[in-house]
Amino acid sequence: ILREFYFSRLKSDPFCLGGQYGNLHAMDAKEQIREKIDVADLINEYLQTKPAGQGAFKAVCPFHSEKTPSFYISSPKQIWHCFGCDKGGDIFSFIMEMEGMEFPEALQLLAQKAGVELPKYTKGNDDKKSRLKDINGFAEKVYQKYLKTAGGKIARDYLVKREFGDGLVSKFGLGYSPDGWTSLVDVARQKKIGGQELVNAGLASQGRKGVIDKFRNRLMIPLRDHHGNTVGFTARVLDPEDKPKYMNSPQTEVYDKSAILYGLDLAKTAIKKAKEVVIVEGNLDVVASHKAGVENVVASSGTALTERQIGLLKRYTSTLVFSFDTDAAGFAA
Ligand code: ZN
Repeated sequence: ILREFYFSRLKSDPFCLGGQYGNLHAMDAKEQIREKIDVADLINEYLQTKPAGQGAFKAVCPFHSEKTPSFYISSPKQIWHCFGCDKGGDIFSFIMEMEGMEFPEALQLLAQKAGVELPKYTKGNDDKKSRLKDINGFAEKVYQKYLKTAGGKIARDYLVKREFGDGLVSKFGLGYSPDGWTSLVDVARQKKIGGQELVNAGLASQGRKGVIDKFRNRLMIPLRDHHGNTVGFTARVLDPEDKPKYMNSPQTEVYDKSAILYGLDLAKTAIKKAKEVVIVEGNLDVVASHKAGVENVVASSGTALTERQIGLLKRYTSTLVFSFDTDAAGFAA
């Protein structure tokens, strides 16, 4: 009971850590994470760092505009500091600044990275947004199962035609939404996910006779944020009679198309290595590109590139390469 109390307190006041209520479990987790993640390694995943002697590194600061590096990282002290804008701190504050996260989210991200298990209260299971992500993740698994059923043959045939093998299909979590009205709704109900929750998650709509699936008889392409959480779907037609060719999840509390770049979760390391990112038009172009062994690729999902998307990419590189179709639409984009 005490443990639950402490964790509910942690949620409402994350900075109570180490305060008079001394949250031992969270303190343990925080310390364990600190022991496993080196500040220089972590920051090097985001910035191009250069050795600066005595276990220190320097980089161009991501938090203010500058040409010569005044952002320093000290491995021995496990801290970072920018002499230009005076920001600084530890691994947790770096993630909070860099990813625009609150402390509990940063704790969760680093715990995952470090392989440290957090007590469930800090994961914010009762948090509305993480519930919506969980439901989208659940739907992804359901669609993957349907892909393997007899009804999923139409989608499997399409994947064979595109020469997308099992490895690629599971890497991108591709699936199939059956040609029924409640294929997802029914499975969700068994798992105690209500119709209204599916509507909120962008996966169902309110019909005259109740809640019905939003996506029917389509190839399901999960849309993930740059941490790899599924937040929505693009659904491609399989029957040429169906319109439109591509259908996206509506905007929800977790899915905002102007803030997502398809494939970024799988491209981060490759982008840093190649020192550039290739932007393509369609999500399946990203899959095709991985098939060809080129992984520093993202898709803007049929929208003009937004400032938020460019902001996301800027964390990894400042060189953008556009690879659009050489047709009128491509030039316009
Ligand atoms: Zn700075």
